[in-house]
Amino acid sequence: MVLQDLGRRINAAVSDLTRSQNLDEKAFDDMVKEIGNALVQADVNVKLVAGLRLSIKRSVNFKELGAGVNKKRVIQKAVFDELVKLVDPHNEPYKPKKGKANVIMFVGLQGAGKTTTCTKLARWYQARGFKTCLVCADTFRAGAFDQLKQNATKAKIPYYGSHTQTDPVVVAREGVEKFKKERFEIIIVDTSGRHRQEQDLFDEMVQIQRAVTPDQTIMVLDASIGQQAEAQSRAFKETADFGAIIITKTDGAAAGGGAISAVAATHTPIVFIGTGEHMLDLERFSPQPFVSKLLGMGDMAGLVEHVQSLKLDQKDTMKHLAEGVFTVRDLRDQLSNIMKMGPLSKMAGMIPGLSNMMGGMDDEEGSLKLRRMIYICDSMTNAELDSDGKVFVSQPSRMTRIACGSGTSVREVEELLTQHKMMAGVAKKMGGGMKNMQKAQGAM
Ligand code: GDP
Repeated sequence: MVLQDLGRRINAAVSDLTRSQNLDEKAFDDMVKEIGNALVQADVNVKLVAGLRLSIKRSVNFKELGAGVNKKRVIQKAVFDELVKLVDPHNEPYKPKKGKANVIMFVGLQGAGKTTTCTKLARWYQARGFKTCLVCADTFRAGAFDQLKQNATKAKIPYYGSHTQTDPVVVAREGVEKFKKERFEIIIVDTSGRHRQEQDLFDEMVQIQRAVTPDQTIMVLDASIGQQAEAQSRAFKETADFGAIIITKTDGAAAGGGAISAVAATHTPIVFIGTGEHMLDLERFSPQPFVSKLLGMGDMAGLVEHVQSLKLDQKDTMKHLAEGVFTVRDLRDQLSNIMKMGPLSKMAGMIPGLSNMMGGMDDEEGSLKLRRMIYICDSMTNAELDSDGKVFVSQPSRMTRIACGSGTSVREVEELLTQHKMMAGVAKKMGGGMKNMQKAQGAM
């Protein structure tokens, strides 16, 4: 999604300002303006952007700021916090509970990606130990049930639907009742996204909702919807009062900011984003890691969670992270895991600073770059790999030796060590937090 470009622009504006010699009020105003322009061009609602600009300015009292580092930190934090506010409606989404039937109903226009996302979500919960199933209550679109059946069969998820029953309310009720009796824990109900008359679609949604009394209704929104997102999500909210949003097709070329505006318009949290057509292309969404990724600051918690769900070997790094330690070898392991995890463009954003470093590269160039970073690590001694990287500062000749040994340049070795230093800093900060996260995940 062009949100990556947006992130790069915002990041560039903040870095330019914090790097410049005369960090005066005019330069600060220019930065705020550039951030605003970047957001508007990404289709974020103009009024929201105006509010954000005002808030950043208000939260940084330029005249009372100290010099140097303090000033930079305050500005960076203000931008970060305001961007988080933009995507954070301060409304907690429903959290499915183990051991009970959680009914989740999907609504959204045809083509938004409902049927695809239903299966992705079912698989996501299934991978986390929930007994999961799907109900197809779209009797309007010929082929909807077959599509769901095909996806569900591929993902080995039980499903319910009918080729003969034309009333979607009956199908939904029967399906949910059947699966509740069979003690399923996550029952996802797909609904139709089109009718001859718009009003019929809304009436049908309400009737299905009454019949299955969902614990959560999720609206699926296509990232490419642009400025219409607001009106559309308002209309759905008034009728179906959904409690969460999933934005699909964030891997496409659309600007994506319109979908973000839907959050503010309906005060509803985004819970997942769809990042491709494949079953695994679903990422959990939460405001802080999202903004962190957007600004090239990475999403280490997301990365660790993703790696855990893929069941790659992570024992040492996890243990280190929990202790707030991050060795060069941990970086090497992460790089090689990323190579195994699929499209680089998706994964790089999770590592602090890596997406900036790879800015503008396609997946092939990116993986070549990663491979070279791994060669560099492989030319290090065990002691160097298990170190915190400081030996290279005290003995820079080591870098020349490693560059020669790995067929790379001293510049590239330096880059890798800078990357490591940044990640070690994040790891140190995360130390205690990671332990809690592991505990929480263990409890899921
Ligand atoms: P529905 O009418 O809302 O049920 O939409 P579908 O699930 O049939 O999806 C419409 C099209 O969007 C299909 O071709 C999907 O493969 C595609 N699609 C859904 N989600 C994503 C996504 O996150 N990324 C991409 N690239 N395509 C998606």
